[in-house]
Amino acid sequence: MIDKLSEIETTALESLAPIKDEAALEAWRIANLGRNSALMTVFSDLGKLSKEERPLIGQAANRVKVALEARLTEKMESVKRSALEHSLSTENLDVTLPGRSVRRGRLHPSTQQLRRVLAILGEMGFQVYTSREVETDEFNFQLLNFPPHHPAREMQDSLYVDAAGRGDNPILLRTHTSPGQIHAMREYAAWNPKEPPPIRIALPGMCYRHEQITSRSEVQFNQVEGLAVGKGITFANLKGTLTDFARRMFGQAARVRFRASYFPFTEPSAEMDVECFVCGGKGCSVCKGSGWLEILGSGMVHPVVLENGGYNPRRYTGFAFGMGPERQLMLRYRIDDIRYFLGNDIRFLEQF
Ligand SMILES: [Zn+2]
Repeated sequence: MIDKLSEIETTALESLAPIKDEAALEAWRIANLGRNSALMTVFSDLGKLSKEERPLIGQAANRVKVALEARLTEKMESVKRSALEHSLSTENLDVTLPGRSVRRGRLHPSTQQLRRVLAILGEMGFQVYTSREVETDEFNFQLLNFPPHHPAREMQDSLYVDAAGRGDNPILLRTHTSPGQIHAMREYAAWNPKEPPPIRIALPGMCYRHEQITSRSEVQFNQVEGLAVGKGITFANLKGTLTDFARRMFGQAARVRFRASYFPFTEPSAEMDVECFVCGGKGCSVCKGSGWLEILGSGMVHPVVLENGGYNPRRYTGFAFGMGPERQLMLRYRIDDIRYFLGNDIRFLEQF
């Protein structure tokens, strides 16, 4: 048995010597130290030996095992070292090669469109005014002439942050950018309450509504709103400004039309349509055959809203208008599903 063990050791060490890579080394380990190797069989057969032989053979087998394991570890290190030396000597590092280019991100299509709108409004003298996304019912509705239980609230089902114990003034995520009108008017009016300065601002940002998410509606979306307040501002100014805006946005040949509408915070109110830029007004699936695309809502600021903002409606008038960048993109690029904007699909986003 002792002879057999020394034979096992000699054979194993002989076959270890020429090994040059890690895969062969692993195969060697399984063959010589694995569960079914000759050496391990000696251990499992110890029970068949006599009481006198057993400790003797056991010790000898253990010595062989420890020796083989030690040589395996040594060999493993030398194989790794030579592999590293090989790669260092054959794979040259060319420091003059250009590096990997850093992948540049880009602005979200909604942000791009928002900035397009703001750039045009900026040229027309509207300054950007940002306001909070978490609002009170008072600012989001009441001061904008939507009293509690007003039916117009039906259109803007809301996401409440805190309603408990707040009565008619719960905290909610703004359903439109319009509460910014009140914040802005009050801020401007505070500079000189007796003679508040004129206002020309653009209010951009995210709005939230408790909506069933479908291809046409999302729970969050962007709006851009414009507000002009001053002395002697008329509906003609509103029409002139918005017609000019449409031409800057859709091209000098763009034709627009106004249709009477209703919003609680403007009186009179109007929707503005632009002639369908897909079919040129002939009628197509995008404009649903009408030849016109609805792009914004507008109106003269309601006297109650002016009053709530600190502007005397007997001396000041103004107009306001609002639009959705996502809707404009959907019309412009014929995107048929609003969910793409927040779906985070890189294949969609990379197209802009
Ligand atoms: Zn059309």
